[in-house]
Amino acid sequence: MKAENVQRSTFDAQRSTQNEIRELFDKYVVPSYARFDLVLERGEGIYVWDVSGRRYLDFGGGIAVCVLGHANPEITDALAEQSRKLVHVSNLYYTEPQTRLAKRIVDLIAPGRVFFCNSGAEANEGLFKLARKFGRDKGRYEIITASESFHGRTLAGIAATGQEKVKKGFEPMVAGFCHVPFNNLEAMRAAITESTAAILIEAIQGESGITIATREYLLGLRELCDQRDLLLLLDEVQAGHFRTGRFHSWQTIVDAAPRRAFGEKRRGAASTFLPDGISIAKGLGGGFPIGAFWVREKFAALLSAGTHASTFGGTPLACAVALRILDVIERGDLVGNARRVGKFLLDRLQDLQRKYPNVLRDVRGSGLMIGIEFNPKIAAIETVKRLHEKNLLTIPAATSVIRLLPPLNLRQSEANEGLRAIESVVVDLAKQV
Ligand SMILES: *Cc1c(COP(=O)(O)O)cnc(C)c1O
Repeated sequence: MKAENVQRSTFDAQRSTQNEIRELFDKYVVPSYARFDLVLERGEGIYVWDVSGRRYLDFGGGIAVCVLGHANPEITDALAEQSRKLVHVSNLYYTEPQTRLAKRIVDLIAPGRVFFCNSGAEANEGLFKLARKFGRDKGRYEIITASESFHGRTLAGIAATGQEKVKKGFEPMVAGFCHVPFNNLEAMRAAITESTAAILIEAIQGESGITIATREYLLGLRELCDQRDLLLLLDEVQAGHFRTGRFHSWQTIVDAAPRRAFGEKRRGAASTFLPDGISIAKGLGGGFPIGAFWVREKFAALLSAGTHASTFGGTPLACAVALRILDVIERGDLVGNARRVGKFLLDRLQDLQRKYPNVLRDVRGSGLMIGIEFNPKIAAIETVKRLHEKNLLTIPAATSVIRLLPPLNLRQSEANEGLRAIESVVVDLAKQV
């Protein structure tokens, strides 16, 4: 066969592998996801390859999960080493990796305790149960969350989520949740009733298109919760794990040097601000499933023996991986990297926004959590597909926003490669709108 024919026949074979996988998938997997037409096979660092060998730059990071990129050798080592020792024993016993991981998380937040589970929805579920226990004696059970929030897909998760589309068809909703506009302290104050036990918000809303809470809002919520004896719960599932340049996004927001008005005294609130409970998942295991919630020391006893459990929560294997990831982040100053490369990306994208205001409405973000809002005439899904054509993976959010949630070890050269792909799509779109 001529070289050209050999090439053609391998191409056909790859094409048919791809089609075959898709056909089987569509036949045997529940169709609850609208999937993109890509069959991914392997990854390395920032890159993933599909079954035909085509390479993509992954700026989605598995939706804020793969904090060290793909096939990271340290994660592989941790998995191999721990799996030779002990994978699982249940939570009837003590294990060292879970102990150490709990301590590391407490050290990164504040005195408190940690409960381990397997996902973000399950972590939030734990916080809901904490809030119910907290309010129980006073007959309070309601949790106020924000409009456009996202808190997971379990029944309580969709009840907590402030978006109609996730609830539709699954009524009746779990009782005890209501939603108020985000970043609006007065709306929150007005929504508190005799039944309210807690407030739950994302310090940066992810799924609905990267909306950042203001510092005043967070400090105001803390004050409100103190005044009305409510738990302040934060969902850091997406924005957490150093993505914004601190362990959690509320830390980034609250500790940011305030732009002080002339003569205004700096309030001491920032140094004492602390939530009562925090849900954690996505980036914690870098792709290996693990979730957790942290609860402030004074409320930890609410979940006494027998009140909450998870078979797989905090296995030695998952905890060993999470511990190794924390080591790698610390050793390589990936927090500083997230801040620097994130700022570089944000600045360049904002330059692009100023150059093409008809295509790009807004660019916002913190560290390596960036939202690019397009003209509402341009659907996010279509933009994401156009970027696939340029070998770049991104995540749609809301109707016309795309999200960048790349790994924390993203290099500036890789950031540049992604920027070139985005710019070329923006230039194409500028000819149309
Ligand atoms: C992804 C996400 C969840 C749900 O996490 P799962 O692991 O999918 O259950 C909850 N809250 C926020 C903010 C999220 O981004």
